[in-house]
Amino acid sequence: MSEDCCSSPSLISVDEAITRILEPTTAVEQSEIIDIENALGRVLAEDVFSTINVPGYDNSAMDGYAIRIADCVEVGIQLPVTQRIPAGQMGSQLEVGTVARIFTGAPIPPGADAVVMQEHCDRVGDLVTINKSVTMGQNVRCAGEDILQGSVILKAGHQLRPQELGLLASVGLAEVSVKRKLKVATFFTGDEIVEPGHELKAGQIYNSNKYTIKGLLKSLGCDIVDLGIVPDTLEATLDVLKKASSNADLVITSGGVSVGEEDYVRIALEQLGELKMWRIAMKPGKPVAYGKVNEAIFMGLPGNPVSTFVTFLLFVKPLILKLQGAEKYLPMRMNVIADFEWPSVKRQEYLRVRLNESAQGLLATLYPHQGSGVLSSACWADGLVEIPIEHVVKKGDKVDYLHFI
Ligand code: AMP
Ligand code: MG
Repeated sequence: MSEDCCSSPSLISVDEAITRILEPTTAVEQSEIIDIENALGRVLAEDVFSTINVPGYDNSAMDGYAIRIADCVEVGIQLPVTQRIPAGQMGSQLEVGTVARIFTGAPIPPGADAVVMQEHCDRVGDLVTINKSVTMGQNVRCAGEDILQGSVILKAGHQLRPQELGLLASVGLAEVSVKRKLKVATFFTGDEIVEPGHELKAGQIYNSNKYTIKGLLKSLGCDIVDLGIVPDTLEATLDVLKKASSNADLVITSGGVSVGEEDYVRIALEQLGELKMWRIAMKPGKPVAYGKVNEAIFMGLPGNPVSTFVTFLLFVKPLILKLQGAEKYLPMRMNVIADFEWPSVKRQEYLRVRLNESAQGLLATLYPHQGSGVLSSACWADGLVEIPIEHVVKKGDKVDYLHFI
């Protein structure tokens, strides 16, 4: 059965649900050492130190001429070019009254204290005229200005993005210690569900949730055990739940978690493990089941495709990030301006919106159809606007926004 639109005193607030899921969650203890090449998205298990300075030596930020400030007190001075220093080569002592041709990244020769960019010089033969005043240290990148030898460059709990991989490489590290991958078992309930690539019979729909859920799990770097489509019977649900929970950190399911007679996931969870929390005062996504089976944490997501997506982002993603040891695990929020009106609601709503720049700031426009089955809304949107319970939104109001991925 899909969600109704009524409020109920037994519903748990979104904030309370997040607290109940995240508070008891601690990071997995095991870690592994892997190549930085394969470390994208992984979480550091230990602080990382640098054994070198970056840059390792003073070098030029520009193509130009290395000079001695004392020689360039007046604009228009003409000086001889006595050496040429490309990147990768060392210059020699810069004698008084001379300059060195130098290229970006090349070491500053001893004696030089600034670089004049070539656009500010005129070169004729071996003589160069300096057409602009120069200041001490200009266009010189100093040794250690990015990273000092012996300093912590990244802390345990930092999730590795491309720029962190670059930083690790910049200090010469080819390997890094990260938390182990999570093993996540997943299955998709429903007699009506069919894999794409097959013809639909009357009353059937395609298994879109599998691809949404697995895509999200892959983007979080999880090892996935896909147990496939499960028929709406208690026996089949018990069977698959036993299998799923036998060797996983986390079990994520779709559908069958509401109050209909064909919804067996919650019942199976209660029989095999523990249901710790069930219905949440939110739309889309009221029926979310959280609990434990064997050693695995269980999250049963609602079947409606937008509900699956939204509840994953709100509850499962932070849970996975925290289990992986990430320090930052909650979605980033920001204020945007509503370009729509919204009435007072009884369940906290998550509206699919697109952002556009305006003179007032970022304007959030609504996808016209906000149904929990309308997955196109999530594809059109940049993120979600959160509407708290009993909060009327007028055009121009500031609202809370959560960005996708
Ligand atoms: P349920 O939570 O099982 O009552 O399902 C709610 C709605 O989501 C129903 O319309 C289902 O057909 C649909 N649904 C359930 N599972 C999936 C799935 N894997 N992919 C797409 N839609 C689904
Ligand atoms: Mg169902």
